[in-house]
Amino acid sequence: MTTAREVSSLLVQLGVDRSAYEGGTLIVRSPIDGAIIGQLRETPAAEVTAAIGRAQQAFLAWREIPAPRRGELVRLFGEELRANKDALGRLVTLEAGKIVQEGLGEVQEMIDICDYAVGLSRQLYGLTIATERPGHVMRETWHPLGVVGIISAFNFPVAVWSWNAALAFVCGDACIWKPSEKTPLTALATHALFEKAAARFGGVPAGLSALIIGQRDIGEVLVDDPRVPLISATGSTRMGREVGPRLAKRFARALLELGGNNGMIVCPSADLDLAVRGILFAAVGTAGQRCTSLRRLFVHASVYDTLVDRLKRAYGSVPVGSPLETGTLVGPLIDRAAYEMMQKSLGAAAEAGGKTVGGDRVLSEQFPDAFYVRPALVEMPSQVEVVCHETFAPILYVLRYTDLADAIALHNAVPQGLSSSIFTTDLREAETFLSAAGSDCGIVNVNIGPSGAEIGGAFGGEKETGGGRESGSDSWRAYMRRATNTVNYSRSLPLAQGIKFEVDA
Ligand code: NAD
Repeated sequence: MTTAREVSSLLVQLGVDRSAYEGGTLIVRSPIDGAIIGQLRETPAAEVTAAIGRAQQAFLAWREIPAPRRGELVRLFGEELRANKDALGRLVTLEAGKIVQEGLGEVQEMIDICDYAVGLSRQLYGLTIATERPGHVMRETWHPLGVVGIISAFNFPVAVWSWNAALAFVCGDACIWKPSEKTPLTALATHALFEKAAARFGGVPAGLSALIIGQRDIGEVLVDDPRVPLISATGSTRMGREVGPRLAKRFARALLELGGNNGMIVCPSADLDLAVRGILFAAVGTAGQRCTSLRRLFVHASVYDTLVDRLKRAYGSVPVGSPLETGTLVGPLIDRAAYEMMQKSLGAAAEAGGKTVGGDRVLSEQFPDAFYVRPALVEMPSQVEVVCHETFAPILYVLRYTDLADAIALHNAVPQGLSSSIFTTDLREAETFLSAAGSDCGIVNVNIGPSGAEIGGAFGGEKETGGGRESGSDSWRAYMRRATNTVNYSRSLPLAQGIKFEVDA
C-alpha cells in the first residue's frame, strides 16, 4: 500500500472526514518517501477569530462544571486513545517519520497524561495561610483561566497538545490548537478522537476544543487575541522570540517550550555499557529530532578513547531506514531543509577542526524525495559557535575534559537550558552536577540520558528554552488563576500592619 493510501485509510478509521484533508491548499508530505499524504483546508483568520469567540463562550459554561466531572471527559478521551493506539501511533510514524515504537510511545504518553489529569481533577488544591488578624482566615483558591492557545511543533505532533489540553480541560479551560503545518494530519485524527469522547460525555459546551489548520500567520492571530489569556507554544527559539514579546505586550501568559542543546558528562567511574546505550538512544533516537536529543558529550580523558571507539562502531552499524520496517532505529529527517541545515552545521564543525564519522545521506536511490542520514559523531577540539546552537538533526559533538568543574562550566556555557545528564558512580560527582552549582537546566539526570522524560515531572527548561513547565508536578497552576481570599468572621475590623484608621460614622 502507498503511504498516501495508508494515511487515508487510517484517517477514515480514526473518524476524520475526507473533506478535511483532500483538495485543500496545505500540502503535507510523508518524510518516509516524500509522497503527498494530505491537502488540507486552511483555516481563514476570520474563522480563527470566530473559534476564539466560541471557545470563550464554552469556557463560561465549562468553568462551572465541577473539576472531577471535567476529569470524566479526559478519562473518556484516554479510553479513545487506548482503543486507537495502534492506528494513531502508525499515523505519527507516517506523518512525522518516527519509528513504529516511538510512534506508539507518543500515544502512550498521551494516555499517561490523561490518567494523570483525571487524578489531578480531584486534587486542584490551594493553601490555607495563617493570618495576623484575630477572627480571620486567609486562603488561596484556584480558578479556571480561560481560553488556552496551544501551538505545537512537528516532532511531537500530538503528545504536546495532550500535555497541555488534558490539564487545561480539568482546570476548567477551553483550548484552541494550532499544530505544526508539517504534521496537521495527526492533529485531525487526535481531534476526531476527542470529539468522540465529547459526544460520549454529552453536554460538552460547543467550541470547548477547536483545531485550526495553517501556517504561522494563524498562530499569530491566536497569539494577539486579547480573549486568550495563555499561549503555550512549543517550537524553535526563533518562534519563541517572536511570540514572547507579542504576549508580553498584552500582558498575556506565555508558556514557552523552545529549543534545547542538551549535554552529558561521562566521568571516569561511569558504567560505560550503560553510558553507550544511554548516549545512543538520546543522540540518534528520533533521528536527533527531539528537543531533548543529546547534542554535546563531554568525556573524561581517562575513558575517552574507549568510549569514543565504541560509539564509532555503534554509529557505523545503527540501522537507518524506513521507520515502518522492524529493526530500523533511525528514520528520516522531516524534510530537505532539515538535511541542508545538518550539512551546513557539519561543514562549520569541520572548518573549526571537527573530525566527523557519519553524517552522509543514505538511501537516496530508494527514496529520492526523502532525507535519510547516517547519524554524525563529531570530535571537536573545543566548544565553538556551531556547537552552541541547536541543529535539529542527529549530530553529536564530543569533547574531552580532565576537570569536572571545567566540564560543568562548558556544559552550561550555551544559551539553551533544557535537559542534561551525568554518567558516574561517584556520589560526589553526581550530587555536584545536581547541586545549585551544577547543571543549569530544567531537567538534570544521573545515569540516564537527557531524553525520554516521564509525564509525572514538570517538563521544560531555562534560558533560551523559554522557562515554561508543563505536564506533571505543579505545572497545572499555569492553566488556572490564583485568588487570595481573606474572610473576617469577627465583629471588628482590625487592619493589617497594625494601621489605625478610625472614623466616626
Ligand atoms: P517551529 O518553531 O518552526 O514551529 C513550531 C510551531 O510554531 C509551528 O506550529 C509553527 O507554525 C508555529 N509558529 C512559528 N512561528 C510562529 C509565530 N511567529 N507565531 C505563531 N506561531 C508560530 O518548530 P519546529 O521545526 O516545528 O520544531 C522543532 C523545534 O521545536 C526545535 O527547536 C525543538 O527543540 C523545539 N521543541 C521544543 C520542545 C520543548 O518542549 N522544549 C518540544 C518539541 C520541540
